[in-house]
Amino acid sequence: MSSYLKANAGVADNPGDVELTNEELEALLLSDLQCVFPGPAAEKMRVSSETYDQTLGSAHRKVAEAIWKGRAVKINGDSHRFAGLETYRCGYCGRIWRLPRGADYPGECPRCGSGYVCRH
Ligand SMILES: [Zn+2]
Repeated sequence: MSSYLKANAGVADNPGDVELTNEELEALLLSDLQCVFPGPAAEKMRVSSETYDQTLGSAHRKVAEAIWKGRAVKINGDSHRFAGLETYRCGYCGRIWRLPRGADYPGECPRCGSGYVCRH
């Protein structure tokens, strides 16, 4: 069974959630996806290389924590959950939603109230 990182706006905030700042997101993008060297990356973000290092370091820590502890990552107020979610689908109206793994099996669809709910 695999877990996916997916946008999941339906999950309420949890105290353990980690929140990535816009700066941390940008540092991750520059460093890990665009492979920009630290010097030019810091320039691009208009911060000192020391600040860039700190920002990237804390971004990496937060992402690692989210993966290893199954926490949600909050990005601009939305939660992106790395692990521990189950997807359900209403067989009647087609509504799809997610609940934390281990939560009670939903008895009815949150939209139409039908009891025809299956795991997606
Ligand atoms: Zn439904």
